[in-house]
Amino acid sequence: MGKVTGFMEIDRRDRRYAPAADRIRHYKEFVIPLSEEATKDQAARCMNCGIPYCHNGCPVNNQIPDWNDLVYHDDWQEASRNLHSTNNFPEFTGRICPAPCEASCTLNLNDSPVTIKSIECAIVDRAWEEGWIVPEPAAKLTGKRVAIVGSGPAGLASAQQLARAGHEVHVFEKNGKPGGLMRYGIPDFKMEKHLIDRRVAQMEAEGVVFHCNVHIGVDKTIKELKAAYDAVILAGGSEKPRDLPVPGRDLHGIHFAMDFLPQQNRRVSHEALKSNEPILANGKHVVVIGGGDTGSDCIGTSIRQGALSVTQIEIMAKPPEKENKLLTWPNWPMKMRTSSSQEEGAERDFAVNTVSFSGEDGAVKALHCVRVDEKFQPIPGSEFELKADLVLLAMGFVAPVAEGMLAEAEVKLDPRGNVAADMVAYKSSVDNIFACGDMRRGQSLVVWAIREGRQAAHSVDKQLMGKTTLPR
Ligand SMILES: Cc1cc2nc3c(=O)[nH]c(=O)nc-3n(C[C@H](O)[C@H](O)[C@H](O)COP(=O)(O)OP(=O)(O)OC[C@H]3O[C@@H](n4cnc5c(N)ncnc54)[C@H](O)[C@@H]3O)c2cc1C
Ligand code: SF4
Repeated sequence: MGKVTGFMEIDRRDRRYAPAADRIRHYKEFVIPLSEEATKDQAARCMNCGIPYCHNGCPVNNQIPDWNDLVYHDDWQEASRNLHSTNNFPEFTGRICPAPCEASCTLNLNDSPVTIKSIECAIVDRAWEEGWIVPEPAAKLTGKRVAIVGSGPAGLASAQQLARAGHEVHVFEKNGKPGGLMRYGIPDFKMEKHLIDRRVAQMEAEGVVFHCNVHIGVDKTIKELKAAYDAVILAGGSEKPRDLPVPGRDLHGIHFAMDFLPQQNRRVSHEALKSNEPILANGKHVVVIGGGDTGSDCIGTSIRQGALSVTQIEIMAKPPEKENKLLTWPNWPMKMRTSSSQEEGAERDFAVNTVSFSGEDGAVKALHCVRVDEKFQPIPGSEFELKADLVLLAMGFVAPVAEGMLAEAEVKLDPRGNVAADMVAYKSSVDNIFACGDMRRGQSLVVWAIREGRQAAHSVDKQLMGKTTLPR
């Protein structure tokens, strides 16, 4: 523990955002890092609790008190080594993780948790700047070959672990560039894509081979992969979006969030749009249906594109402003949260269901809504209309796409339609086929995908070699 009285002497101070009026003019990141001194002060607030709940709250079990102490003592290089021992990509989580660790921090009992995520980001950003992060190729190759389908955080984490264990790793990705939803879903203003390119270059230097624009189940069969590789990991994400099959759904101007967001990310990186129909919010009244991360990303993108108005509706009731700590801590609480995109100027409404869409000349013009009670039943007389020229459906993802690769692989699916595999061996029902990330657990978070990728790599290495030194 760096400074015994740090938590009493130093107030919580976190990274700030550039003003909304400035940041909505571009697609770049807008979080302003703390100075080195301020970061050290924040690390000094860590109490090094006997039971560090933050450590358990973090899905990759980052050794948070240890690196807080190292930062306080100015040993940033050792802090980076420690951080990378549990997390392959802290620059991703340091930007886009919702930080369940901070909900679990003992100081959160007083609403002033250690700024863990910001410290994590500062450590890894500094490590890149100093040149401490270099390729770590395996000293000895095993002669075993592993194919990974999908290059999201789960596929990337398992690929890096397995290459470092000495296996020949090939990653197959149907999109033009690696990164999964971090590349084509999450907007650049939350995470710039050169961060992914830098990691991909590191992994290539470690021996990982990326095959982009290869759709397994379309361009290449899973049977070919099974024949050519000693193990196959399915890390294809959960890509089937939840639809809203109400009257008027087929009107022009109603789109899934993941038809809209990737287009903007491609524009930013000068990639060709995959569709002939550009979906743009400029000059439009936009309604976003769904209150999660994806909905927020649709808001921030619509505002940057020049929407006339953005309204976000959510079927769930408005959560409480403040959680009851004695009931929730150290778990992730349900409470009212406002994302940076919501701050930029969206109207939000809760406990609202969409009954139908109506339009003119085949294009959407309005949503017909009704307020619902706690059992989602319509409240008579509460019907109202919302003006809309563009509707973005951001209601989550139901499951992985079952047709194509998964059907051909003949892997068993669980009752929710995810690939059935446990969280110890990550083995599917088919020999030598493993599964991890959103494809196995359903839609989740980047940090969970990294955890599953690492753990699946442990299991694959153990199966191939009879033993493993890869951490779980
Ligand atoms: C818009 C949006 C915003 C989000 N924001 C956040 C956030 O802020 N913080 C957070 O923690 N999480 C966020 N998430 C969730 C997070 O992105 C996912 O949980 C995470 O990316 C899952 O990782 P994955 O590797 O399992 O799958 P994915 O990232 O989905 O990657 C799967 C990859 O597999 C490829 N693929 C699929 N099938 C095939 C095939 N047959 N052949 C070849 N390639 C294939 C896909 O093209 C994709 O690149 C967000 C999700 C969305 C949609
Ligand atoms: S990965 Fe997420 S949960 Fe873990 S320490 Fe970082 S911000 Fe916290």
